[in-house]
Amino acid sequence: MRYFIGNWKMFGVPSSLSILKKINNYVKKEKNNKNYKIIITPPYTLIESFSKFFKKKSIMIGSQNCYHKDPFSSDTGSVSSHMVKKLGAQFVIIGHSDNRKEGDTDTILKQKVEFALKNNLKVIFCIGENKMQKQKKQTFQTLKRQIIKVLDKKFTKNNIIVAYEPIWSIGTGKLPQPNDLLKTVKFIKKTLGQVFKSIKPNAVLYGGSVDGYSVNLYKNLQIIDGFLIGGASKSSKKFIDIIKNYYR
Ligand code: PEP
Repeated sequence: MRYFIGNWKMFGVPSSLSILKKINNYVKKEKNNKNYKIIITPPYTLIESFSKFFKKKSIMIGSQNCYHKDPFSSDTGSVSSHMVKKLGAQFVIIGHSDNRKEGDTDTILKQKVEFALKNNLKVIFCIGENKMQKQKKQTFQTLKRQIIKVLDKKFTKNNIIVAYEPIWSIGTGKLPQPNDLLKTVKFIKKTLGQVFKSIKPNAVLYGGSVDGYSVNLYKNLQIIDGFLIGGASKSSKKFIDIIKNYYR
C-alpha cells in the first residue's frame, strides 16, 4: 500500500474543490489494481465541505494540525481534534516543522497525538532534521529523539503514519540521495519497531520537494510507503504527475 498525501498549507478557497475533482477523475479512470490512498489536508476552513463531497470517493480528507487540548477550551483561534473529526477529517498531520518552529514542543506534540487517536483520527507524524543537524551528522540522533519523546507503545500503532521530512528539503528543491534516504528510513523503521515492540513497522513516508520529476529518484525504494507533498499538491496536474510517474 502506498500513500500520496497532499499538504495544502495556507492555500485554498471553496472553489479549489475543482483541483480535487480532477484528481478524483484521474484516479477513477486509472487506478486499476494499484494499491494506494490519496489524502488531502486542506486548511481548516475547507475540511467540512471537502469531506462531504469526497465521502465514499477516492480521496480522503485530513487536517493540517489540531490543538493540544480537547474537546473545547478557552484558547482563541484554536481547533481541537474533536472538532476536525466532527467536520469529517480522517487524518491529522502532527509535528510539521512549520508548527514545531512556532513552538510545538515534544510535550505538546504528545498531547496532540493522544487526543487525535482518542478521537479516532489517524496521525501523520512528521519528523526531520534541519540543515545544521545534517551538517553535524546528527540526523539519526535527532530523529530518534523526535520519535521516542512523542510516540509511546500505548498508542495504537496502526493509526500512526510517520513522515520523514528533512527541513532543509521542504520547499527548497534539495533532495536526499536515494541511498541516504534508504538508510534513514531503515533507521526510522527500526526505531519505531523498538518503540512499539513490533517487527512489522509503521508506514514511513518521505516528504520534501517531491514532484513529478523527483519522485523518479525514489520509486524503486520499496521501503518508502509513500509521499507527503506540499507545493506540488496544489495543482491537479503536478499531483497526478507524481502518481503517474511513480507507477510508470
Ligand atoms: C511540506 O511542507 O510538508 C512539504 C513536503 O513541502 P514541499 O513538498 O513543498 O517541499
